[in-house]
Amino acid sequence: MKAIQIYETGGPEVLRLAELPIPQPGPGQVLIRVEAVGVNFIEIYFRKGVYKAQLPLVPGSEAAGTVEELGPGVTGFAAGDLVASASVMGSYAEYALVPAAQLVKVPAGLSPEQAGAAMLQGMTAHYLAYSTFPLKAGDTALVHAAAGGVGLLLTQMAAKLGARVIATVSTEAKAELAREAGASEVILYTEQDFEVEVKRLTAGRGVDVVYDSVGKTTFDQSLNCLRPRGLLALFGASSGPVPPFDLIQLSGKGSLFITRPTLWHHLATRAELEWRAGDVLGWAAKGDLKLRTEHVYPLAEAAQAQSDLADRKTTGKILLEP
Ligand code: NDP
Repeated sequence: MKAIQIYETGGPEVLRLAELPIPQPGPGQVLIRVEAVGVNFIEIYFRKGVYKAQLPLVPGSEAAGTVEELGPGVTGFAAGDLVASASVMGSYAEYALVPAAQLVKVPAGLSPEQAGAAMLQGMTAHYLAYSTFPLKAGDTALVHAAAGGVGLLLTQMAAKLGARVIATVSTEAKAELAREAGASEVILYTEQDFEVEVKRLTAGRGVDVVYDSVGKTTFDQSLNCLRPRGLLALFGASSGPVPPFDLIQLSGKGSLFITRPTLWHHLATRAELEWRAGDVLGWAAKGDLKLRTEHVYPLAEAAQAQSDLADRKTTGKILLEP
């Protein structure tokens, strides 16, 4: 099978097309024929070596496709089922192994491309809006990078829950997408000081929650945008890790809440996976959650796909097609 492989960590050029044997499913595993590969920031962190993995590595975390073969002990799936998962290590390939416990069936009406676009970023948006800071009508949320993969889905979910969403984006074209997704106000944080704008828009009160996936360039000001006892959900580092901070000085500004906002901690049980994936895929199938996939690349162009994501050139979801 064709697959992308990394032999050493580094820039996008280390993503190389290789010919590898089709893997065999072990106990509890399912072999899927991959039809759509979701591209996510986490694969960039692995490629750069920020997150450690054994090499050589077939990158990947998310895919949708059809069941090819079941490993020993697997029940509930059959060959030919259309399935999706956000836990497909090695999804940058024509075939991949998935733990059955992390696999869900795709509801009727959704294509593999739609399912591949919804799972990882959709369930991330879901745990942020429903669990990390459960939004309710009247809340005000600041969503950074609101035209991105997680951002567009989170903005839609927050708006549907009745929250007022103040969004940040880098360009006017992205601002339009954030507004379409339900943002009440959009700040071009490349041109305007978003802290000043948020204070103006909230009459000095600040927001109830900041969902911050940008990290290094937004963290300090995000904290300053919070109302007293507001919550900063730092769940990514698209601009780089947050600079070291003085915890004592920081807590002097008010209470400090630290949680672990990571998708895998929010999918600890099968019931949780079914809840979040069921909601996300179900809403997408009904058209209540709009999936935006503007960028689809052939598998061989994985390097270009990752470069475009890292260089802020993309909106919504990026897919690879084997
Ligand atoms: P996005 O589609 O959001 O792409 C990243 C966006 O971040 C860019 O489009 C850009 O939007 C913004 N950005 C701001 N500054 C920079 C910068 N210096 N370099 C690059 N991008 C920048 O990606 P994803 O939706 O895939 O992921 C968003 C973040 O969420 C990532 O950091 C990822 O690691 C994290 N994440 C965390 C999860 C978790 O469970 N903790 C799960 C999934 C994702 P703009 O041009 O508008 O500024």
